[in-house]
Amino acid sequence: MLSRIVRCGSISQLFRRSRMPPIIGIIRSLGRSLHRMSQATSSSTPPEIPARSRGLTKLDSARYKLEASPLFQVASQGNFRSLVPADLHAPQEVDSGWKAAFESIVETLRQSREANSLLGPDGRTSIELITKLGTLGLWGCSADRSELAESTSAAPIPRRACHWSEFFPLLTRLATIAKPVAGLASIHHTIGTLRAVDSFGTPDQRRRFLPRLTSGETLSAMAMTEPAAGSDLSAIRTTAVRQGEFLVISGEKCFITSLAHGRIATLIARESDRLIAAILPIPAHDSAELSLSTYALHPLKHSYNQGLWLREFRLPLKDVLPTENRSGLSVAYYGLNYGRVAVSSLAAGYLRSLLADMLPWSRHRKTFGQAIALRPLVKHRMARVASLLVACDALVQYCGGLHDSEYRVELEAIVAKVFATEAVKEAAIDLALKTHGGRALLVGHPVGDSLHDYLASTIYEGEGDLLCLSLGRSLAAAILVPRLEIPSPANSEKNPEETGDRLLEIWRRDFVKLLAADRTPWEGSQVQLVRLARRFMQLTAARLTLLKAAKSECEITRLAGELFAETLFAAELRETESRELIARSEQLADLIVATGWHALRDTQPAAMMFSYANA
Ligand SMILES: Cc1cc2nc3c(=O)[nH]c(=O)nc-3n(C[C@H](O)[C@H](O)[C@H](O)COP(=O)(O)OP(=O)(O)OC[C@H]3O[C@@H](n4cnc5c(N)ncnc54)[C@H](O)[C@@H]3O)c2cc1C
Repeated sequence: MLSRIVRCGSISQLFRRSRMPPIIGIIRSLGRSLHRMSQATSSSTPPEIPARSRGLTKLDSARYKLEASPLFQVASQGNFRSLVPADLHAPQEVDSGWKAAFESIVETLRQSREANSLLGPDGRTSIELITKLGTLGLWGCSADRSELAESTSAAPIPRRACHWSEFFPLLTRLATIAKPVAGLASIHHTIGTLRAVDSFGTPDQRRRFLPRLTSGETLSAMAMTEPAAGSDLSAIRTTAVRQGEFLVISGEKCFITSLAHGRIATLIARESDRLIAAILPIPAHDSAELSLSTYALHPLKHSYNQGLWLREFRLPLKDVLPTENRSGLSVAYYGLNYGRVAVSSLAAGYLRSLLADMLPWSRHRKTFGQAIALRPLVKHRMARVASLLVACDALVQYCGGLHDSEYRVELEAIVAKVFATEAVKEAAIDLALKTHGGRALLVGHPVGDSLHDYLASTIYEGEGDLLCLSLGRSLAAAILVPRLEIPSPANSEKNPEETGDRLLEIWRRDFVKLLAADRTPWEGSQVQLVRLARRFMQLTAARLTLLKAAKSECEITRLAGELFAETLFAAELRETESRELIARSEQLADLIVATGWHALRDTQPAAMMFSYANA
């Protein structure tokens, strides 16, 4: 059963229990509250960012329900303009006091890159750098530290958590400067034990673990995957057996990023018929009961990714995270709703580096008597990377706002993650690799050296097609919600936002057709369901990118955002890109080459390889 393999939250449970007609009955009762919500979210007053709630309270809140998700409502109503809360997407003046600390973090990382001291002698992120970034607040900024003792750091670090709409753009900047550091922060703050303890931990667990986790003395990881359980987490075999005040744990984990001696992991294990989540401090050395296993892996060369063996390891019961009557996987899924946005934030940084490296090279490289930067084909590629970058930024910004407003952000995070990681794959392989030519494959070239990292992001935290199946399944439920009467604005072919809604309506019709032919497309019609989910993802990206473009004061951002949406609409309408559209994409590339772009401010273009200076 797919429901065991990919999770769709409460809606998947609904599907499991009943077939279509009961769903309609149940969902009908949601109508009135959905209507109230749609009115609330379409108001023009920016919503207040509520205080952060702790995990379990939040899991039970009305806003955390999947049906409350803005994208669930969009699919249900077939209308973007009334239902994607544009005000959440607007750049908000959200300064939680972390602004100065974040600038110091970025500056420290930049200096370390310039001094060539990002890596330690073992080729991994330098311990001194991790410690220094800890004193500046990097490892604790997303956690509520109000009950912790005063920090000894000289820098003024706020004790309350930063907003997610501040944290995700920080990750993008870190990824632009130093991918491995950004990767560590991404895991630690989202799927790692910091998030688990901060959101679900008991007062005792917070007291014992938060000081280490927030200072960066101990970075953290998530140990979920096993040799026989990757996409299908119901197949987890690591067992936990109660013995007095302990759980005796046996099993094997693999592919665990950031797992190393002295760090902490959140462990998912099976205790009789349910899965639990527990805090597992990894000792400084291997023992007969707990050891790490290593293997050669192409990506993440400068980070740890290891396996874990547990043989009758005794874990104190007090280190199990409380989930009441829920599965321990709730802790993992909760983290993944942040983690997938974090992965998209990293992707936005990778796109910046890819574009920045194309610029000097294409100006420098002459073929047939002309710099390749002057060729329409190459300009088109640069413009495409710029458009993808703006689209990723728009999705990240949107998801950050939704997290700050305590939505569930499951569907939205899937859309952002799949879109952004595939944008990186396209930019790296179809655009950057071709533009750099043979040099891209020289050892030491930034594109070739990172190819495996770019590809790996399409797999970890959920492989793209499987996530689209999960998304498609939730969209199927949304489509079965009776439509509310939301008036559509008058149709005008010229307005791209209206084109977006028209295409959404066509998408909805196609989805209804699929559901009429196959009531369980997640089992029988997977290919069609994934295609439909991808179309929804693209339309969502277009809508948000247009919003971002409209609000931007930067001409390049505006042009890149509009081009992204219009190119996508042309593809959806099966039209070839117009001459006018192609001319605008060349104009965009010329602008970036001639004036530079604020979005690329943290980049450091790589040294030219085999420069052929006299060519
Ligand atoms: C670099 C890297 C870092 C990672 N970091 C972590 C980490 O920190 N912590 C952690 O716990 N895990 C981690 N992982 C594991 C990662 O989450 C899994 O690799 C991922 O979830 C996919 O699982 P799998 O590789 O076992 O693929 P499988 O489950 O073997 O699936 C292979 C493919 O089969 C297809 N497939 C599977 N089921 C279905 C279905 N029902 N219908 C249709 N097609 C299907 C899909 O295309 C799927 O991708 C990491 C992996 C990598 C590569």
